[in-house]
Amino acid sequence: MKPLLINGDWVDGAHGVENINPSDKSDVIDLYAQAGVSDMQDAITAAQDAFKTWGFSTPQQRHDILKATGDEIMVRREEIGTLLSREEGKIRAEGIAETTRAAQIFHFFAGEALRLNGDVVPSVRPGVSVEITREPVGVVGIIAPWNFPIAIPAWKIAPAICYGNTVVFKPAELVPGCAWEIADILHRAGLPAGVLNLVMGQGSVVGQAMLDDPRVDAISFTGSQATGARVADACIKNMRKFQLEMGGKNPLVVLDDADLDVALDCAVNGAFFSTGQRCTASSRLVVTEGIHNRFVEALIDRLRALKVDNALKEGTDIGPVVDATQLAQDCDYIDVARAQGGNLRSGGARVARETDGFFLEPALITDTTPDMRINREEVFGPVASVIRVREYDEALHVANDTEFGLSAGICTTSLKFSSDFKRKSEAGMVMVNLPTAGVDYHVPFGGRKKSSYGSREQGSYAKEFFTIVKTAYTAP
Ligand code: NAD
Repeated sequence: MKPLLINGDWVDGAHGVENINPSDKSDVIDLYAQAGVSDMQDAITAAQDAFKTWGFSTPQQRHDILKATGDEIMVRREEIGTLLSREEGKIRAEGIAETTRAAQIFHFFAGEALRLNGDVVPSVRPGVSVEITREPVGVVGIIAPWNFPIAIPAWKIAPAICYGNTVVFKPAELVPGCAWEIADILHRAGLPAGVLNLVMGQGSVVGQAMLDDPRVDAISFTGSQATGARVADACIKNMRKFQLEMGGKNPLVVLDDADLDVALDCAVNGAFFSTGQRCTASSRLVVTEGIHNRFVEALIDRLRALKVDNALKEGTDIGPVVDATQLAQDCDYIDVARAQGGNLRSGGARVARETDGFFLEPALITDTTPDMRINREEVFGPVASVIRVREYDEALHVANDTEFGLSAGICTTSLKFSSDFKRKSEAGMVMVNLPTAGVDYHVPFGGRKKSSYGSREQGSYAKEFFTIVKTAYTAP
């Protein structure tokens, strides 16, 4: 059984849970220890104690550990990427790419540890000087979702450690494997006891115990809106800092003047790669009427050519849905869309393969309207809907007509429309002739409206969350 990491010790939890491969339900990856409430409390105590020293560690110490961690992840990217695909279900190439990304994130924050600076400014009072510095926040609770099992933990843990915080990490139930590898690598890289604690277990039990504990100084959460709201409630009650990254209903606008191949590449990649299980997935395709029919027909051809199969099998384009619950949710949304007048033009059926997994053909639903549930609620699967619009202004209006605001894309060859869209889109991230999903790791990531709350993740902007500003005055 893979144990918890608390205060530098590997600890067996109350019991173990099997980590099952969604491509092949008979494949048990391993048993992972499940923490109870007292394990979470021990982890928070350890993080609090460790902060007394780690909070004053040198940038060199933090750099060296983050660099060594990035190095090991990079060297082992094929092995860890394969584990990722085995536990989450995205295809192996995507698993390896995500693992490479995690290594790059650790390397980036290794450098950031050496780049932290402050300001010295003249006071308005004679002879007085003012220093503005950034300090670590303290004990940071990290709660991660299942769909990016290594990249999301990396982009939260690396900056937390980089800026001198200590961490209690609660990974998603479905993907303990990559979480365990990160903890093991950081531990062996020389991270002092208690600086990173790995507490695997049920969100409603150990996650909730983290939220309820006033000793946690900040919480960085990525997951669903429903859980995000709980996190916000608990954090406000405890007057603690928090940041939330949640769902999306991301539009990809395709205008009449788009390069059709570019638009098709963006739609196929953005809506269906990683089995559509990305918060930035292009789940709404907003298409102007001059290109609509050509786009839809060509997209159906592309979708029919995609191979849905075991994520580890050579030649697979789309792996399984992550589990039975998510599969049922995807199928329900397809049914609801049809019942409300949508036209299921391609895919949408469960398919059997050599191995017993949660395979679903990518579904394309046309003739939908913005008010249908399929266009208002996040599905989180290989399901995209098409909304036909007259021209650019209507496309922009429909794109923004959502409570979400994570990512938005436009395919056009017009500078006028792309510039206008970049300015008027109500999303935190805007893509021109690129899929809505797929971002750089050295620049800010995050959304607006009900997709996100708090300061941005990633790049140097991460310090807004993981540090706290101090203003010190000195008289001569
Ligand atoms: P989820 O909300 O079910 O779970 C997220 C995490 O919260 C898990 O670790 C879970 O155990 C924990 N949790 C659950 N109940 C809790 C509680 N009461 N207290 C504390 N923690 C609790 O989300 P999920 O199904 O794992 O992930 C899918 C969602 O994540 C989608 O909505 C997706 O859009 C979103 N997501 C957003 C981003 C982004 O950056 N915006 C990125 C990836 C995924």
